[in-house]
Amino acid sequence: MSDSPTKSPCSNTCDPEGQPTTPINPKNLQKIHGNDLANQIPVEIVSEEEMALLEAALSLAAAARPSSLSVSSSSRFSLLCSQLGRNSKRALSNLRGPRSVGDVEDSGRLVLVSPKKKCKVPETFLSRFRRRKGLYVTDVTATEWCEKQMEFILLFGKPESTPAMKEGCTRHAKLEEEVIKKVEVRVESLEDIWALKFMNFIICANQLLFEGLTREVPVVGLVQGVWMVGMIDELRMPVAGEGRNLMLVDTKTRVRPRLPTEPQGRNGRLQLMCYKYLWDNLVSEKFPSDQFFEYFSLDSRCILSDEIKRLMVDSDFSAETLGDVVGYFSNFCSVLPRALDQLLLRYELQEDNSLIGEDEFTYDDNWLKAQIQSSLEFWQGEREARFTPQKERWKCRYCQFASVCPSQTDANSQTSSL
Ligand code: SF4
Repeated sequence: MSDSPTKSPCSNTCDPEGQPTTPINPKNLQKIHGNDLANQIPVEIVSEEEMALLEAALSLAAAARPSSLSVSSSSRFSLLCSQLGRNSKRALSNLRGPRSVGDVEDSGRLVLVSPKKKCKVPETFLSRFRRRKGLYVTDVTATEWCEKQMEFILLFGKPESTPAMKEGCTRHAKLEEEVIKKVEVRVESLEDIWALKFMNFIICANQLLFEGLTREVPVVGLVQGVWMVGMIDELRMPVAGEGRNLMLVDTKTRVRPRLPTEPQGRNGRLQLMCYKYLWDNLVSEKFPSDQFFEYFSLDSRCILSDEIKRLMVDSDFSAETLGDVVGYFSNFCSVLPRALDQLLLRYELQEDNSLIGEDEFTYDDNWLKAQIQSSLEFWQGEREARFTPQKERWKCRYCQFASVCPSQTDANSQTSSL
């Protein structure tokens, strides 16, 4: 995404009763890519942020009416069809829900916390702001950028996007359109939404296997006991030959034709490592579906909407319930390869999309786990938010909370982040 300094540079997914009656077979997978499925296959929400907005609204609706999880009939997703290969087509869904509902998260009591005083929040940030939604990968990267800034965002809301950020989003949308075409799908419940997410994962992974490239792949998994969700920017894998290695790629756009600073690069590397961790977990471990349904307050036996079921049938899926879809998802994950330890960050110039440079680096499991643990300490209320380190206080010059941040006014804060 954008390299704007005003935000983290990386802000940019069986129940026994839900087991499918038949596993996915190669014949069915091939048909997913056939022309006959064009404009018919449901796919994923474009961004984590958009997903968060709708889920926040749905969570509120569910809380208000626990016996009904229906959403407004005007809420729709878009389906996307692949344009990558001449004959290849797939579909992804794109949320077009009410964006204004994001503020519902911020309707609670606002508490400005001094890093020198004991924090007395009744709930952890995780339970207060990410309940039944999971922690986003971008939450982890934003926390790595500056925990205090993340705290301000949670309590007071996200600052308006800068032009550079908007340009970065536009570029990502264009990259996505290169391989997919959106088709709208009506959703009526949280179960419908998650069914689409899992379908999108399967369709993306299928596109990867048959075409060697896919983008915007939703992932979800348990990380150190916390549910985490994210959207992998790009997956590449040769379609033939012995070296069918799967590589994760992320593209960042930059205003100026130069590579990022070390903190920006480090933040991008953290993001990609999180995605690899989630991907590898999905393909190598049994998906903890019971815990998933419980945490996200989902009913595995909930009958999916007629439109979703029709899409499933069109895609050769015999699914009546979310549990059925999760069963397919779990089976499909088990045949996918792990990702390479080599990860790739691409930096493009916003002006003309030219390549500025690439950062190919090696996955570091110990470093990643330490970073996630540190982030979770903040999210789970085990300690107060830290300021960005002294040597990276240049970030404060671009921070929209600088005027109220104790790091800028309290001399004692100079040592609190060391
Ligand atoms: S002013 Fe600096 S320390 Fe304070 S929230 Fe912003 S980036 Fe973090």
